[in-house]
This record gives sequence, structure tokens and C-alpha cells, in this order.
Amino acid sequence: MCARMIEKSLPGETPPNLLDYSRAYSEFQWQQAPCPLHGLPCGGINIAHEALDSHLDQGRADKLALRWISKQDRVVDYSYRDLIRQSSRFASVLAQLGCPPGSRVFSLAGRLPELYIAALGTLKAGSVFTPLFSAFGPEPIRSRLELGEANLLLTTQSLYRKKVRTWWRELPNLRAILLIDADSCDEPGCHPMAALMDKADPDFPCYPTRAEDMALLHFTSGTTGKPKGVVHVHQAVQLHKLSAYYALDLHETDIYWCTADPGWVTGTSYGIIAPLCLGVTMIVDEAEFNVERWYRLLQQQKVTVWYTAPTAIRMLMKAGADLCADYDLSALRFLASVGEPLNPEAVIWGERTFGIPFHDNWWQTETGAIMIANYASQAIKPGSMGLPLPGITVALVRSLDSNQVETICEPDQVGELALKTGWPSMFRGYLHQEEKYRHCFRQGWYLSGDLATRDDQGYYWFVGRADDLIKSSGHLIGPFEVESALMEHQAVAEAGVIGKPDPIAGELVKAFVALKPGVEPTDELRKLLLGHGRKRLGAAVAPKEIEFRNALPKTRSGKIMRRLLKNRELGLPEGDTSTLESDEQ
Ligand code: ATP
Ligand code: MG
Repeated sequence: MCARMIEKSLPGETPPNLLDYSRAYSEFQWQQAPCPLHGLPCGGINIAHEALDSHLDQGRADKLALRWISKQDRVVDYSYRDLIRQSSRFASVLAQLGCPPGSRVFSLAGRLPELYIAALGTLKAGSVFTPLFSAFGPEPIRSRLELGEANLLLTTQSLYRKKVRTWWRELPNLRAILLIDADSCDEPGCHPMAALMDKADPDFPCYPTRAEDMALLHFTSGTTGKPKGVVHVHQAVQLHKLSAYYALDLHETDIYWCTADPGWVTGTSYGIIAPLCLGVTMIVDEAEFNVERWYRLLQQQKVTVWYTAPTAIRMLMKAGADLCADYDLSALRFLASVGEPLNPEAVIWGERTFGIPFHDNWWQTETGAIMIANYASQAIKPGSMGLPLPGITVALVRSLDSNQVETICEPDQVGELALKTGWPSMFRGYLHQEEKYRHCFRQGWYLSGDLATRDDQGYYWFVGRADDLIKSSGHLIGPFEVESALMEHQAVAEAGVIGKPDPIAGELVKAFVALKPGVEPTDELRKLLLGHGRKRLGAAVAPKEIEFRNALPKTRSGKIMRRLLKNRELGLPEGDTSTLESDEQ
């Protein structure tokens, strides 16, 4: 058993570089000689080089890199060479439009090939890429463009007309709009992308960005409040690559499908960068979630590695395993999930339905890459997030005061999940929120705001977000435990649990429950579920109230917005709902 430690390093110390490869890169970052590690001229590291150009030397130029499937099932294929040339053209277009390296390029589009090309072209040009969800309304788009000081926006004609046209000229930094699907454009400052791309140079030498140059600006999901602008640098790519190898078991021979939209960090780190770096073939589906379509695509494309989110898995479960039996999914060999706690029921359902379990993994926009995972080579404990990735030091900490934390060494104790600073994909700031950024760090630890426990075998178990924890009659209750217990009942499709103020208990546990199709929300069922909760969790932890809903409010990245359920319950203002997606009641 390890001794209790109180760490006392000074604030502002330089975080140590934990991983040798990151150190190797930073040593070369100021040199003008070609970097021996990857051959980029002038030294440096560039995500687009790692994802694309590096494959030229490795004989993968003609390999299928990206297969795009339209809503109407049109298929467009891009080899690595195609993506290299197209992204180079995009980088040339940026130069032509007067966007020097370091410019901020935003996208507002569905999952179209141009979005992927623009992301890689922007990085190649040494500029900063920020993807936005195309379903955002005008206000969230504007506030993000303003905060991120956007210089160029890539979008479609219809999104431009509906959401951007009337106000974009008021933004002092935004100098151009690039329209993906326009042949011509009369409005000053608006340009048809295809026409510019046709004329642009397909040989653009990758800009020799340095390890610490800003590469990506990502907005968080907004589950707990106003979304934050998270800054990532080029050396993050080293961990994108490694983590996908470890946590997603991604190999060159795989056909890989990440269902996340690039508007969410998962859709960029693991929907664009990591798979291309590892030289795999990736599938991009333009359409939104649909159970039959997803099964059909998995079968048709012979997907081998599939990365999705608990909300999608719960919807597949809701539709029933019978539907899946009509498809040949024998190519699938690895399933992974991220974004929210994955209920043990869902892991086991995966095994029953696909013959392989879902592998849960944990990370955040701030961590840039997967930090804790159920690897291919480790036994899975359903309901656990898994083990820290090699090179990543994870601890559970308890705050002693506003400056000090202590690490918790005993197993099965609840603490805040903390990461030793210095991993390559660690965020380098919340844009224009310096104080908030600093507040995340204590004595060399990054504090994640999530609570967890660690068992005696080192597996981490998610308890809840610090903000969501319920205090009832002296008990600390994580909503995830209660939601998972409710999910075990065959009538339940989804559950969201909050603490509701109560004069005696402090807070009482209230559950919002969405039922499976065809199940009637009766009083009798409510009583049954309350009884099921008491049996599974004990009276102190079980929900005291259950309210049926058609669906639960979720973010666009598929997370249940418990703060919204709570604010509504208490009659408080809803707060920031810019990322709210489904909200059927
Ligand atoms: P905001 O920070 O704006 O409130 P957010 O935290 O939901 O939004 P993301 O960075 O997309 O934004 O999500 C990271 C969070 O998602 C984690 O802090 C954690 O709470 C949750 N999460 C991610 N993966 C898992 C997982 N495997 N198990 C449990 N929770 C997870
Ligand atoms: Mg967060």
C-alpha cells in the first residue's frame, strides 16, 4: 500500500515532458535542419504531414484513404495521393485569399469531403482549424467565430444564406467566406471553393510548424455550461497516433468508421487525424443516425473497427438485437465507445449482439486524445473506463484547499480524476480565459472535473462530473450508478438522474426515464422501476422519483444534459443551450 502524499511543487512550473518522442520533437523545433524523425524541411512537426504526406515514402500513396458515402448512397473514394493533392490545393487557396500561416479557418458544414480536405489543407498551411456543428443556430455560430477570431469560414450555400449572410461583415477579422457547393458567387468576400481549387497549385510544401504551434481550436460539448474554446498544438498528433493504436487497436489493414461529427473533438482526433496517420481506410457517412443504415454500412463496407458513442449504442439497443441479426457483420473485430459513461448493460449487449464487447474509453476535449481505455489486450470490466494509456499518469485527488491536492492511494475511494501534466496532446489554453485555464492545474496535475474510483487492479470507474454529484442524507451518489441500474430493466431505454433539493435529505434522487418503443409509461411501471432501483441500489441511493420522458435533452455530441433537467425541475433559467440537440419531451 502506498503512503499518502501531499505534493508541494510551485504553481507555474514547467510541466515535465513525460514521453520521449515529445521531447525529441521539441529539441528540433528551433533548428533549421531537416528533422531526422520525419524529414520535414526546417525541422518541426505538422499534423497534415503526419496524416498525409508521410505516406508517400511508405508506399501508401494509392491506398484508399477516405471513402465518403452521401445521404443518397453515392460513394466517392479518395486515395492518400488524392487527399495530399486536394489538401495542398486548399492550402494554396488560403494563401491566395491572403490567409497567412496562423490564420483561423472555421468550417460550418455537414460531413462532406470538402470539410476533411479543408481541415488537412489548413493544417498543412500552418493555419488553425476549427470545426463547428452545422446544426448550430446563427447565435452560437457567431459567438464562436467572434471568440475564435475567425479569418475564413468554409460553409455551404444554404447554411450561409440561412445562418451567416446578414451579419458576418460585422466581424472585423472575418475576411472571406468559401462556399463548398457554389459554382460562382456575386457577393463581395464570398468565393466558390471548387473554382478556386481547380486553379490552385496541387504541390504545396507542408508548412514547417513547430511542436508548440497552435493547430486546432475546439469547443467543448457544453454539457456543464458555456462551451470553452480549447487550444491544441501540432505535437498532439503523436498521441493521436499512439492512442488510436493502443485504445482502438487500429492497424494499417483496418477499415475504420468513427461515427462522430468533426464538430466534436472525437470527430477530428479520431475521425480525421489518427486513422490517416496510421494509414487505414476510413469511412465517412454524410447521413445522420439511423439503425438500419448503420447496420447496412457496417456490412457493405466490411468495417473492422468501429468507434461510436453510448447514446448511439443505447439507440441500437432500443431498436433490438433482432434487427442486427439480418446483417453479416462478421468483419467487425473491435468496438469502442466514448463521450459518456458506457453502462455495463451496453458492454454486455455488444458482446451478445456482435460477438465482441464495446471497449469504453475516457478523454476530454482538453486532453486531446484518449487517456484511459479498455485495450484490446486487457480484460474488460463492464462499466469501467479501463486503464491509463502507456505514458499517461493518472491519479485520483482530493482538494485540501484552493492550492493543494492530495493523491488518494487506497482503492475504491472517490476522487477527482487528475492527469500528470506534459502529455503531447494536453490543451494549451482556454482561448481568452487564462484564469479558467490556470484554475485546472495544481502541483503538476491537471484536474479533469470528473469523479472516479480506482479498483485494486488499477481500473478506473466513472462516478460522475463533480457538478452532477448528488448529496442525499449524508450519501454521495453518482448519477451514473443510478442510471446504469435503471438501464438494466428491460423497459428502460435511457435514464438521466439529478439531485432535487429536499428539506430533509438535502437532495433526493430523481430519475428521468425514456422507455423502449411500445412500452407504456404507466403508474404501475413507475412503481416497478422504483422497486427495481431499491433492490439494486438500496433505499439510500435509489431514485425516489421517476418521471417518464419521450427523450432526454442531449448535446450535439450525444451527452445527456443533466444540468438542463435540473434547471427545469427547479424552474431556473436554462443557461447556455447552444449545443442542445434533441429535446423532445
Ligand atoms: P463541457 O466541458 O462544455 O461541459 P463536456 O465536458 O461534455 O462539455 P467534452 O470534452 O466533449 O465536453 O466531454 C468530456 C467529458 O465527457 C468528460 O469530462 C466526461 O465527463 C465525459 N466522458 C467522456 N468519455 C467518458 C467515458 N468513457 N465515461 C464517462 N464519461 C465520459
Ligand atoms: Mg468538460
